[in-house]
Amino acid sequence: MTQTITVIRGDGIGPEIMDATLFILDKLGAGLQYEEADAGVVALEKHGDLMPQVTLDSIARNKVVLKSPLTTPVGGGFTSINVSLRRHFDLYANVRPVVSFPNTKSRYENIDMITVRENTEGAYISEGQEVSADGETAVSITRVTRKGSERVVRYAFELAKANGRKKVTAVHKANIIKSTSGLFLKVAREVAAEYPEIEFQEMIVDNACMQLVMRPEQFDVVVTTNLFGDILSDLCAGLVGGLGLAPGANIGKDAAIFEAVHGTAPDIAGQGKANPCALLLAAVQMLEHIGQQANAERLRKAIIATMEAKDSLTGDLGGTGSTMDFAKAIASRL
Ligand code: ATP
Repeated sequence: MTQTITVIRGDGIGPEIMDATLFILDKLGAGLQYEEADAGVVALEKHGDLMPQVTLDSIARNKVVLKSPLTTPVGGGFTSINVSLRRHFDLYANVRPVVSFPNTKSRYENIDMITVRENTEGAYISEGQEVSADGETAVSITRVTRKGSERVVRYAFELAKANGRKKVTAVHKANIIKSTSGLFLKVAREVAAEYPEIEFQEMIVDNACMQLVMRPEQFDVVVTTNLFGDILSDLCAGLVGGLGLAPGANIGKDAAIFEAVHGTAPDIAGQGKANPCALLLAAVQMLEHIGQQANAERLRKAIIATMEAKDSLTGDLGGTGSTMDFAKAIASRL
């Protein structure tokens, strides 16, 4: 059976890494059909809108999106496209797996963990941001809800269950931020009680940072609020060699968007130098999300085998291959 997904080719290196990724997905025989939709600078030029209604309609129809990085023009009062998409489709869970890959500049070899970040509330609600008239005092509102906490913690446990993972760690600061972080932790404990087969651990965020750097292999699934998740997920990407290998998913009830964590890399755009792996690993997440576990595993193994053989790696990984050379090397190992 074929499934149609919305494909957003994006800006900068976006089209190059998308070409490479779709080439590999076709070789994989995942039975996907692509509905291309514009967003970002390309859409602004063509439709006069960074996120045109036709693109939103395509996402609403297909519910699954593979998206390359987008540029939000600086100035002109544009809201970040990624933030707009999260709000529009209520994409409440930001899911970022990190795995140690062979032959990367990483300090560790045994990391295999997923951070699940609450994506819609917490410190990022952009409400009540005020600076006093004398410029001496600034305030902002942090809002955490039972509903928001429950759905993201439940997502983390369901993800753990579906992937045979053993432990969920809730990261918080409830000892100091008793209201918001306290509510998140309370709800996390309640949800955890429904999953006795999965170990539940609580960890204060400062300790979590130290533990991540000292003994990252102890973590399996980490779930946390918006601000802590934003910071921890980049820290985790750094543990396995940086953003070039970091995929992410934004999951909601009615849509899911899979993307590379890195940006549009304007410095290397159009030169065939970009590493397609982050978007490709996002495609692995997407295949898992749509129930194609076997294909996801085949693709992941082919990526690892290609890196192990140092075959046609791109410059950021120490090789001399082009984006498409790397893609072909991966495809040949499927
Ligand atoms: P943006 O404004 O879109 O975030 P940026 O240049 O500020 O763009 P990134 O796009 O994340 O941020 O790039 C940071 C650095 O990492 C750049 O030097 C870029 O060339 C490099 N980089 C990012 N993605 C890749 C990739 N897929 N392959 C190789 N290098 C990459």
